[in-house]
Amino acid sequence: MTLRLFNSLTRRVEDFQPEDPARTTMYVCGPTVYNYVHIGNARGPVVFDVLARLLRRRFGRLDYARNITDVDDKINAAAAEQGVPISAITDRFAVAYREDMAALGVAPPDIEPEATRHIPQIIAMVERLVAAGNAYAVEGHVLFAVASFEAYGKLSRRELEDMLAGARVEVAPYKRDPGDFVLWKPSTGDLPGWDSPWGHGRPGWHIECSAMAAAHLGETIDIHAGGVDLQFPHHENEIAQSECAHGGKPFARFWLHNGMLNFGGAKMSKSLGNIEKVHDLVRAHPPEALRHALMSAHYRQPLDWSDALVEQSVRTLDRLYGTLRDIDALLPAGTAPDVAIPDAVEAALDDDLNTPQALAELAAIAGNARVLRSAIGNGETSGVGPLLALATLGASLRTGARVLGLLQQSPAAWFGRGTSGDDDARIQALVEERGAAKQARDFTRADAIRDQLAGEGVLLEDTPQGVRWKRA
Ligand code: ZN
Repeated sequence: MTLRLFNSLTRRVEDFQPEDPARTTMYVCGPTVYNYVHIGNARGPVVFDVLARLLRRRFGRLDYARNITDVDDKINAAAAEQGVPISAITDRFAVAYREDMAALGVAPPDIEPEATRHIPQIIAMVERLVAAGNAYAVEGHVLFAVASFEAYGKLSRRELEDMLAGARVEVAPYKRDPGDFVLWKPSTGDLPGWDSPWGHGRPGWHIECSAMAAAHLGETIDIHAGGVDLQFPHHENEIAQSECAHGGKPFARFWLHNGMLNFGGAKMSKSLGNIEKVHDLVRAHPPEALRHALMSAHYRQPLDWSDALVEQSVRTLDRLYGTLRDIDALLPAGTAPDVAIPDAVEAALDDDLNTPQALAELAAIAGNARVLRSAIGNGETSGVGPLLALATLGASLRTGARVLGLLQQSPAAWFGRGTSGDDDARIQALVEERGAAKQARDFTRADAIRDQLAGEGVLLEDTPQGVRWKRA
């Protein structure tokens, strides 16, 4: 089986293999934490969570970093508006972000770097760029000189003039070129700032990702992913900074971009009124249905988001959980044959993460199970053979759905939603994932899960019977 991914850099579907067989690296641009995130910002984390699961089972160790941008003008504005320190905003919304992603079944990344904890690395990278002639200091700012990087524009494949025309580029008299972008800018008054060779200031947004990716994953990473709205200028600028700072070494081998959500035909954006916050949605709908809905279209396509879409996902999950409940009712307790992930599901994901196809394969398995279940039920077939076949179909359905992060609750918990049952199942799944990580000696991951649970007030206790958990 070969994983094939569409690489935005080459505009082709390519076979994926990590450069270092012992360690796959992936970086996904994370949130700027000044508010609750809208559902459009959850599509990338959900889709790349499915990819992370695939990479882990295929290649072993994955170092997956998803950053937190905790220094930004929007954060400053929110803090000023509410009359609180910046950290009051960033701490609150970083916690909310982790809760929202956990509710959607998104496993925590292995590394969650925060920009404010990487100021020395950021300053060092800016210094390298200045020394190499790729950046210049002027009026307390440091700007990247796009003319110094011949390959500028290679990701978005557009001429600089076109790119600038389509993007809101800050006009400033001190720029040598209108496309030059900020690496460092001065901070005055109450604004957060750090001492640097260019005075008291703070980093630009783009340099944060370049510095944090290099600090945790190395100079060349296997996969860099994010929303297609980040392709220009953010990702283009990340490439320019990283490749110039690292002597021309490729920054990322594969670039993956997820499409945007449409709301009634309009692009989902915080500046429009059609905001649907994950924080509210997970209280209004079963979170698993939101996850299902986010995977219902291919990740590179736009997805029309609506209540009807979510309702459709609820009905689909009702049918799948109903099938499992009916199967379970016929079988003696504890009958769960060990089965492999169904080939058709794995093949769908290998085909550039074709989640709609994978969901169709699950529906087909469930359909076969229902036919067999009713044949057994009305006596058309009997004996141990058909029961075993039914048990195998049920196990295949659960195993196939697990790679998508679906169907991991008990049917009772799903149908009893609104009770704490589904949260218990989610916590139990994380506890089990941590156990598996420890067994695989992946302690970074095991600790990340423990920390997430601790953050939710869940305490783990090692006992001779295995790990028990309780709420603090
Ligand atoms: Zn980024």
